[in-house]
Amino acid sequence: MAKNKNNFINLNNAREDEQIEVMQKIADQAHCPFCSENLRLYHQQPILKEGQYWLLTKNQWPYAHTKHHLLLIYKTHASKLTDLEDQAGAELFAMIKELEQKLNFEGGGLALRFGDTDFSAGTVNHLHVQLIIPDAMAKDFEPVRVKLGLQWEKRK
Ligand SMILES: [Zn+2]
Repeated sequence: MAKNKNNFINLNNAREDEQIEVMQKIADQAHCPFCSENLRLYHQQPILKEGQYWLLTKNQWPYAHTKHHLLLIYKTHASKLTDLEDQAGAELFAMIKELEQKLNFEGGGLALRFGDTDFSAGTVNHLHVQLIIPDAMAKDFEPVRVKLGLQWEKRK
């Protein structure tokens, strides 16, 4: 298996220096940073809400040009869509609908990466949903892009 990639993380998809540093520590531990027993070791953001299936929190490394970048992390270790309970979908939508109302989102997008991180371009291979609200009214705004898949030359 490639050095920067294990069952739980893929450093090749990390974006920021600090993130790479934290992810390197996690890679050395060979455990999953989004599993509840490890989440508090690395994740500095408050848990905003906890459901039966999902934890709502802020992305520690929000994408540039986002007004809100929230994460809904599945509470048990999962990578594939088939790992998810059917009822988790209903809870997910209930949680994001509540957020839309509470935070008055003008518009945005959801990203749910899954499976092999060379395909998903995920850094953490534990299923999570990103709720992204672009800061589209900012003067220096540039579109927020979500990447899927990793080019061959970056796979290490
Ligand atoms: Zn996990």
